[in-house]
Amino acid sequence: MKSIKWIVMMLPVMFLLSLTAMMGYAGKDAAPDKGICPVHGIKMKSVNLRVVYGMPSQREFEEMRVGKSLFPYGRDYMLAGCVVKPEKSRRGYICSECVKARQTWITSKDRWNEISKASQASLEEFFAVVNSRDVDEAMKSMASAMINTPAKRREWRKHLNAIRSIHVLRVEPANTDQWRNNRHIFKVTLEAHVANAPDAPIPFYGWQDNPNVRWITMELNSNRRWVVANIATGP
Ligand SMILES: [Zn+2]
Repeated sequence: MKSIKWIVMMLPVMFLLSLTAMMGYAGKDAAPDKGICPVHGIKMKSVNLRVVYGMPSQREFEEMRVGKSLFPYGRDYMLAGCVVKPEKSRRGYICSECVKARQTWITSKDRWNEISKASQASLEEFFAVVNSRDVDEAMKSMASAMINTPAKRREWRKHLNAIRSIHVLRVEPANTDQWRNNRHIFKVTLEAHVANAPDAPIPFYGWQDNPNVRWITMELNSNRRWVVANIATGP
């Protein structure tokens, strides 16, 4: 219970931190050395960047994280936070190579999301069922290799029973070089509240302070149904 309280207390702080990170990214219009892109080493164009207000989308947050090192000057707009101010544009730089890199990133992201629409939906449904505490139903969405012995079934039943609530906060295609037509891997960010069973192999079955990140493999089984085939704590 203590950790839950802590998380609730930390939520506003985390929100502020993400905003600060965002502002840091938005501040990229500050003049870099002689207008040279630090990533591509080429001369950038000095332009008017549109100033955009409002809460960034999930993709924009992700883009901020990835973009910092891959395409810091790839956008013709800047995010200026949730508070709307009169400023409509700001002088800044744009790098033609960053624009290309960003477009490639967005295209490949869309492509992987398109390919994995069905498996992502099944993944989210699995956690919705776990959250509804219907353990039997949840186990129907697990690959047989995970539950093909009485011992494995018993362990998973106890594990799933210990999960009081669980919600998917974010799903991203991951390790796409290892994907097969019938096997997709995702990096999943979850908020989980788990009871500590006295006989759990590790405390709270390894679910720690939120958010919890898991690498989840989905497999298409012989009934052409996407099922959970692996839940790992690392890539
Ligand atoms: Zn660049």
